[in-house]
Amino acid sequence: MWLPAPRSNFEVNTKPMPADKLKEQREGGALYALCSRLYPVCRSITGDGVRATLKELQQIVPLCLHEVRSGRQVFDWKVPLEWNLREAFIEDARGKRIVDTANHNLHVVSYSVPMDLVCSRAELDKHLHSLPEHPTWIPYRTTYYSPDWGFCLAHEQRVSLPDESYRVVVDATLQEGALTYGELHLPGSSGRDILISTHICHPSLANDNLSGIAVATYLAKHFMNQRLRLGLRFVFVPGTIGAITWLAENERDVSQIRDALVVSGVGDKGRFTYKKSRRGNGLLDRIFARRFATTDNSVRLFSPYGYDERQYCSPGFDIAAGCLMRTPYGEYDEYHTSADNLDFIDAGALQQSLELCIEAIEEAQHEIRYVNTNPKCEPQLGRRGLYEPIGDEPMSCVQLAQLWILCYSDGEHSLADIRDLSGLDSTTLARAAERLEAAGLLKAEYG
Ligand code: ZN
Repeated sequence: MWLPAPRSNFEVNTKPMPADKLKEQREGGALYALCSRLYPVCRSITGDGVRATLKELQQIVPLCLHEVRSGRQVFDWKVPLEWNLREAFIEDARGKRIVDTANHNLHVVSYSVPMDLVCSRAELDKHLHSLPEHPTWIPYRTTYYSPDWGFCLAHEQRVSLPDESYRVVVDATLQEGALTYGELHLPGSSGRDILISTHICHPSLANDNLSGIAVATYLAKHFMNQRLRLGLRFVFVPGTIGAITWLAENERDVSQIRDALVVSGVGDKGRFTYKKSRRGNGLLDRIFARRFATTDNSVRLFSPYGYDERQYCSPGFDIAAGCLMRTPYGEYDEYHTSADNLDFIDAGALQQSLELCIEAIEEAQHEIRYVNTNPKCEPQLGRRGLYEPIGDEPMSCVQLAQLWILCYSDGEHSLADIRDLSGLDSTTLARAAERLEAAGLLKAEYG
């Protein structure tokens, strides 16, 4: 006989988390929630929106914030003036605000110069941007490097504007300040790092690139406090100028970095696309090519257009920087429009992107190729304290792993290959390799 469970005052407190809530947490809810918190922030390549974004990320991982002054020469570029928007709007002849950044950040062209003027319908129209093919969406436009102003609006609204005078106001500051970026370094025992980079400059666009920001942040959180052989260097930078500035500021450290992953547009429901680095044969290039070979996901060759992989791959640095996306930029209608909103991204897709990145980075940790420095016959391990047989006890796993590693460390086989050949687990192999390396019997080669 079924009896209802007795009610008590403790019921509320002891109630387990509902199944759907648990599921949400497991399936990217935290990443999606981060995107939701960051979505309303008015970001650009500089300014308080970038700072607010990075400060929100500091609630999750201990990012260091760096400020680089306006005017600083960074290779062939200069750090621009800092832009901060209070509000921007268009008023009709009756003083009614018909376009207002209070309703959507995308309404103003990013980096519009401060102004307050009255103009005709025809004059205003020269500064308007809309999408006739998607008449209800607002496009995303910028004017970082040429002083100008403009507004973006739904095409259906634009064509309905009567022929009258309009007041246009951009209440912003464009003055000496700084470019802000965030960085987190998780060092590895090898002294070599993988760079993980994501752009933080877009306002109120979810897939491009709150998705990349969320995945990179939780990727950093995942690897914090873990022992790494290849260190991870996370950078959260404004697109193009931020990556260039970071490279200029960190030029001396860049020799530690051979491989990089740019993460962007990883929240939509499309298949994955990995764009290879310029060299095309870097560590991550090989890992993603291998992982995607038997799936519907695709690998593309490098092209000099796209995200910040262009800067990292430039011949003067030649980092093997690939880019992980889902549907590639420009290949979905919502790209750079108001339709790239929180409905366009998906918690499950974010979680899947995070898991893929975790697996690829873990795999990279085992892609070390060692060279046996004593390759003629087996080295005498006992003399080096690496082989301690006790009576008839079987050889320990670590000792067996040492033999596998010495035997296959011919410069051709990676630690991952040896794992597959030996059936031994990665942790045991890593421990064995560390012992052999410390004894001078192995020399590591990364990538
Ligand atoms: Zn973009």
